[in-house]
Amino acid sequence: MEGKRIVILGAGESGIGAAMLAQKQGFDVFVSDFGAIADRYKQTLVDLNIAFEEKQHTEELILNAIEVIKSPGIPDTVAVIKTLKKKNIPVISEIEFAKRYTAAKTICITGSNGKTTTTMLTYHILKKAGLNVGLAGNIGHSFAAQVATEDFDWYVLEISSFMLDDMYAFKADIAILLNITPDHLDRYDYKMANYAASKMRITQNQTADDYFIYCADDEETIKALKNAKINAKRSPFSIRKKVEGGAYLEGNNIHININPIDPLTMSISELALQGKHNIYNSMASGIVAKVLEIRNVTIRESMGDIKNIEHRLEHVAKISGVDYINDSKATNVNSTWYALESVNPEVILIMGGVDKGNDYEMLKDLVKQKVKAIVCLGKNNKRIHEAFENDVEVIVNTFSAHEAVQVAYHLATKGNTVLLSPACASFDLFKNYEDRGNQFKMAVKEL
Ligand code: ADP
Repeated sequence: MEGKRIVILGAGESGIGAAMLAQKQGFDVFVSDFGAIADRYKQTLVDLNIAFEEKQHTEELILNAIEVIKSPGIPDTVAVIKTLKKKNIPVISEIEFAKRYTAAKTICITGSNGKTTTTMLTYHILKKAGLNVGLAGNIGHSFAAQVATEDFDWYVLEISSFMLDDMYAFKADIAILLNITPDHLDRYDYKMANYAASKMRITQNQTADDYFIYCADDEETIKALKNAKINAKRSPFSIRKKVEGGAYLEGNNIHININPIDPLTMSISELALQGKHNIYNSMASGIVAKVLEIRNVTIRESMGDIKNIEHRLEHVAKISGVDYINDSKATNVNSTWYALESVNPEVILIMGGVDKGNDYEMLKDLVKQKVKAIVCLGKNNKRIHEAFENDVEVIVNTFSAHEAVQVAYHLATKGNTVLLSPACASFDLFKNYEDRGNQFKMAVKEL
């Protein structure tokens, strides 16, 4: 289509999906990736006859776009984005783009930790209730690709703050903000307020018919809410206090009272996903289910039979009375805190990797209470040594998952837990957190 050029920056899952949808909508599409494009994605572009370049961004081919769809991985500080902004060419996310072409309603889940778990759990409940529902976003499936090929009534979308930063007209029918704890601050000028503001964008454009579900125990959320104008119906969840129009914990029971005429009470022992953090995640998903008027029996059944989610407190094996748990997705200190909080002592904790300027202080009490030894897995473990050398007896360095598991195996005795929950990114020794988790699991299976 003459004069309707859309340029897509970044040819990963979301970029390829956006290219497919843009082509279907009749745009002249061009894809540009500064790195090498994975073979399977390149093949899709060739098959669809979509023009592309790799290992460069050629400005002449980009600056003539009417709109640019940017992969969430590209920061605003790269040269081509700066130039686009200077020229007032709109830069949007794939989510923003795709929403224009679907009438489906959306449940959007954001937060520093728990997004994938809550997204999967919500999807699982809706699916079990027989709704015509899709699963997309940061979870690894492109929203745009599904909009181009499917016809769902509902979508459960995992939304990262990087996606939110490029969303403007988008509106979530139901928004969940799980928590706001320090992460990715390098993309927010190292200011917590900027990061919190980005997360609060999940409520943008919402009206009185919509829902905003949030954690009433989360300090940063409460702080951010003080200055925010929320038009949606607010629905809090808490494990510390009784709340109205949301969900709370009393003793061992979760109460969901968003619909006071038909409340739901269930014991936390019925939850398949264990750990304190999963009480929060389950309450958030449960509120959504009640808003959609899903039957209590279905909600209860779904919360009880959801399968362990890979790389998130995933039980791998019990060997000689020792539990091996893969929590490779714990890439920040807060998620490691929750992992440590929920496993049985004594723990051999495998942690380390790329330290994102971590503050390990919040882990200290739990480490003192529960951890028998720390096995550092990473190229540079200096900061972990400094943080914990006075708290645990043994800290050793290892440089592969195999080595770490072997060391942990020799340190563990019957009844102990070996927990991989790194609190760090994985890029020093692994391709990504999945690779780290898979190598850990392989090493455990070889024991
Ligand atoms: P995300 O998609 O936001 O990264 P995940 O659901 O993949 O979150 O969980 C990542 C890790 O974060 C888990 O392994 C767990 O240790 C921790 N976690 C999960 N849910 C929460 C929560 N609600 N609050 C704090 N930590 C959590």
